[in-house]
Amino acid sequence: MPTHDELPIQPCLECSEPYKVTREDRKFCSDMCRTAYNNRRRKEQPPEQTAASVVDWRPDFYQQINSIIARNRYIMEYLISMDFRAIDRHDLEGYGFNF
Ligand SMILES: [Zn+2]
Repeated sequence: MPTHDELPIQPCLECSEPYKVTREDRKFCSDMCRTAYNNRRRKEQPPEQTAASVVDWRPDFYQQINSIIARNRYIMEYLISMDFRAIDRHDLEGYGFNF
């Protein structure tokens, strides 16, 4: 077993500061550098969507589309009931119609 003075020294993956390798799998001089490195990597490489996250996401997406369609339909029914036969896009958007 090497004494503390004999431990190999290598540069930190995050800040390049040399540190003593107290464990073989150690790659950083401090927890702060390890956290900073991992946070940055997470941002650079977002994890691939798992099947579960797709399922979680979908009901909300369809719900949003359905509520847009329902609102558009409500607006159209209102305009027809008011005997509108033509309306320009700008006015339609004014009623809240979502294209
Ligand atoms: Zn470091």
